[in-house]
Amino acid sequence: MPLMITNGRLVTAASDCVADIFCEDQQITAIGGNLPAPPETTVIDAAGKLVFPGFIDPHVHIHLPFMGTFAKDDHRSASLAALAGGTTTYMEMICPARDEQPIEAFELWRDKARADSCCDYSFHMGVTRFDADAQRQLRSIVADHGVTSFKVFLAYKGAFGVMDDELYGVCKLAAELGVTVTAHCENADLVALRQAELVAAGKVGPEWHEPSRPVPVEAEGVHHFCTFLQLTGARGYIVHTSCRDAVEIALSFQSRGVDVAIETVIPYLVLDDTHTHRPDFEGAKYVMSPPLRSKEHQAYLWDALAAGHIATVATDHAPFDFDAQKRMGDPAAGKDFTLIPNGIPSIEDRVHLLYTHGPAAGRLSLHRFVAAASTNAAVQFNLKRKGDIAPGYDADLVIFDPDYRGVISAETHRMAVDYSGFEGMPIIGRTEATILRGRVVDFDEPAPGLMIDRR
Ligand SMILES: [Zn+2]
Repeated sequence: MPLMITNGRLVTAASDCVADIFCEDQQITAIGGNLPAPPETTVIDAAGKLVFPGFIDPHVHIHLPFMGTFAKDDHRSASLAALAGGTTTYMEMICPARDEQPIEAFELWRDKARADSCCDYSFHMGVTRFDADAQRQLRSIVADHGVTSFKVFLAYKGAFGVMDDELYGVCKLAAELGVTVTAHCENADLVALRQAELVAAGKVGPEWHEPSRPVPVEAEGVHHFCTFLQLTGARGYIVHTSCRDAVEIALSFQSRGVDVAIETVIPYLVLDDTHTHRPDFEGAKYVMSPPLRSKEHQAYLWDALAAGHIATVATDHAPFDFDAQKRMGDPAAGKDFTLIPNGIPSIEDRVHLLYTHGPAAGRLSLHRFVAAASTNAAVQFNLKRKGDIAPGYDADLVIFDPDYRGVISAETHRMAVDYSGFEGMPIIGRTEATILRGRVVDFDEPAPGLMIDRR
């Protein structure tokens, strides 16, 4: 059935106007003033509301075997949470074990999303081993399945991490195929050494997580990765950049012609390292890697985002329950911070927090907000027909109420996790309706999402 949204203020990365949008056969077919509505059209009056392109989260974890446990969401809970927050497309990291076959891992991750996701989705193919056999399979994943980006971990050696000879091979293959290499940049050996030192000194609480992987450890990782991009000509994307030093290094490579884009994630923009000092092990809720940094780094990230130096704001969504899972690293049980599963759940809250602390706080223009939360990811990762409001684009739209005032709480969130890292935080503005390919999302009877072919 056709859908018409009337009188909304349409805001994209580049334009801002009041108009009607007509959607048919899953796409936007017309934009204009006083558009005629054929019989059978569902009409939504969006007067006084903002209408944004569906938001895109380019970095989430849903199926995630990690640190001896599994992340809590499945695609059903994660996608409904995403949609409630205005996100219509997400990109999941496929993280195979080193001895797993890439094709089998791809099929496992894809089938889980296909079975349960109500968002549209794609993947970054994690490369955790690189030899001739893996290379053959990676070529097929790109050419036959349209997954045109890789993910490498410089951190987590022995689990997901790659060696330098493998990193060089991945970058050369990516350059040949014209695909993007996304990278988690931290120096794995330095992290392991510092963790051991701290634990040996009895520094075992969650507040020691940040000192175990301080700013220079991330900055070295970014420099390391960018060096490989420079030598191979591959296109790169640095995930979850947390601090000034890391951004500045990436920018210095950009200025020398290296094609590298910078992502940050919403926790770094609204939380800081003091959260990991909370008593009674509550700091474990805020353990992620790279770690939350100081307020000074946070202020720099906002400036870099406003200036367009940081391209995207993702989540690195990775939900682990506080009670059963984060407690795996509780010193009260004789454990330490290195055993706390890393991650802060945020797939539902990203857009609302970014709007509240961005445009509503005068820190970001609406255009920059849309670019960072939607358009730039669509362009970077070739999510065709996503990230903009224009005829021929998928009718992925968010009707947003800028006058809403509320508070974030685990009591009311849809994510399948027992806490919120943003508990009690006020929210200005909220997603009132989410439209995925021309259909208003019905949370009781949601339609299935589709995998996006990015070739
Ligand atoms: Zn991640």
